[in-house]
Amino acid sequence: IPPSPWPDPTALAALQARERERFLAAHPTSRALAERCAAHYLYGVPLHWMRDWPNPVTLFVRAAHGAALTCVDGHAYVDFCLGDTGAMFGHSPAPVAQAVAAQAAQGLTCMLPAEAAARVGERLAQRFGLPYWQLAMTASDANRFVLRWARAITDRPQVLVFDGCYHGAVDDTLVDRDPATGATVRRRSVLGGVHDHHAFTRVIPFNDLDALDAALADGQVAALLAEPALTNFGLVPPAPGFWEAAQALCRRHGTLLVLDETHTLSSGVGGYARTHALSPDMWIAGKAVAGGVPCAVYGFTAEVAARMRNAKDAAPEGHSGIGTTLTANALALAALEAALEHLHTPASYAAMARAADALEAGLNARLHHRQLPWTVTRLGARMELQFMPRTPRNADDVRQHAQAALEASLHLFLLNRGVLLTPFHGMMLCSPATGDDHVARLLAAFDEWLDALGR
Ligand code: PMP
Repeated sequence: IPPSPWPDPTALAALQARERERFLAAHPTSRALAERCAAHYLYGVPLHWMRDWPNPVTLFVRAAHGAALTCVDGHAYVDFCLGDTGAMFGHSPAPVAQAVAAQAAQGLTCMLPAEAAARVGERLAQRFGLPYWQLAMTASDANRFVLRWARAITDRPQVLVFDGCYHGAVDDTLVDRDPATGATVRRRSVLGGVHDHHAFTRVIPFNDLDALDAALADGQVAALLAEPALTNFGLVPPAPGFWEAAQALCRRHGTLLVLDETHTLSSGVGGYARTHALSPDMWIAGKAVAGGVPCAVYGFTAEVAARMRNAKDAAPEGHSGIGTTLTANALALAALEAALEHLHTPASYAAMARAADALEAGLNARLHHRQLPWTVTRLGARMELQFMPRTPRNADDVRQHAQAALEASLHLFLLNRGVLLTPFHGMMLCSPATGDDHVARLLAAFDEWLDALGR
């Protein structure tokens, strides 16, 4: 007789039904706002993703400070989602809030660089190690522009990404790998797609050097665009030596190595590439880079800069297809300067690591004590609870172990006990403001959840 599955699906569904009721009862003001919003917003929210949470009605926020937020019903939450990394350095960090307030009275946007631009350029180079920079408003924009530059300067049509990647609302990268044929296919969830992905994007499994070599061999790939670790399809770290070998393969095949560090900025000061001595040709960060104010940056080597100038100078006058009107506005520059000076610091990262150490140890102790065949995978200040006995190697590995109902149960149960996790997966991020009391609260709620599941 095979062992009965744990947790029992019926018991899990019953628990989820109780938690939904509990949430509804505790949030009358959110419910009222949801009703009003339903009249004027698609799905009742200003961005439809804001309904992609496991709670039965939208949670409306009154204020967010440091590692905590308060909802409109007055409940306090410890935030391990942190705006899916936008607030990685804590909500409304004081230096950024002050810089934004000061700049707000001095002009918001002029389509001309503010005085701070020179200082910001110097700080970007110093912090992230690349000499040349451009700005964008969002990481999606930055990735889109970088791909344009990469194709322009290499005169190659293809880009290469890893299966399970997410680089924002970028047509080229909203693709999956057909497991049967290895072909590139449009991600089935994407709306209104018309791109011929096969002609322009290749997809290979993460951590697969043979596949990488094969994909680059015909000299048609302008850039490998990658996160140093997959963070958007579960947390999948690179195998030891993977990036050193991948970087060498890109060099050999004349393909630009482009690292999107929008999430892996949480790895350590300056991001993953800096802390692991990688040398990408181009490098991208958005979300938290300016402390949560809309802003993204991309940096590149002197050689790439020269090739970019050549490509631009050779093109006819007119729209480059790169940039948006509000990009590098005075508010964004002010926030970026404050963030580079006060947030991207060893002290911030030491505080993040302290909290992450405590959280990782606490979770592992519980998995061990309760004999749960699960894994905590860690990358700097970020970690993920994975319902599988080992760290995954690639996206297929994650797909095979997905447990959607269990995940939704964990999220809603914790939310009802004042702890916010990143929706879509079990990601937990620690900010410099995350303290022992916050970690203890998550661990206590996790214990309570496991008790409720009879484990
Ligand atoms: N790159 C990565 C690695 C991301 O995780 C995301 C968003 N999750 C983006 C780019 C896009 O960021 P945005 O939605 O701010 O444009």
